[in-house]
Amino acid sequence: MAHAFHHAISSARKHGGNPSEYYAIHAWFDASKAIIADYRHRALRHHAEGIAMADVIFGPTLTLSTGKVIPTRWIGEQHVREDLGRIPSFADWVRAIRPEPWMGRATRLSLEPAPTPQASP
Ligand SMILES: [Zn+2]
Repeated sequence: MAHAFHHAISSARKHGGNPSEYYAIHAWFDASKAIIADYRHRALRHHAEGIAMADVIFGPTLTLSTGKVIPTRWIGEQHVREDLGRIPSFADWVRAIRPEPWMGRATRLSLEPAPTPQASP
């Protein structure tokens, strides 16, 4: 599994600047490794919506030390393509999840009004 640092080196080779200028974006994509240490961690952010979320978090563009301005989206797209070979949708990931009974098990909602507090004597 590629490390965020290696993705950052790849970005610097492709767009210029230093790997450190890209590291935070790549580290954000791979932060889900803290949840699960195999490739399934990618279901959380490695898809079209994850790339769009990176835009919101890091801003729409990245200004490099060279003065070059590039879309943040390009970095997200590069990361996901390097890991998966394509950019899936979140729906692609969901189709790979086998439904289990606990996923749809709802409990009764407590809809009765809360008891009124009693005045203390
Ligand atoms: Zn990744």
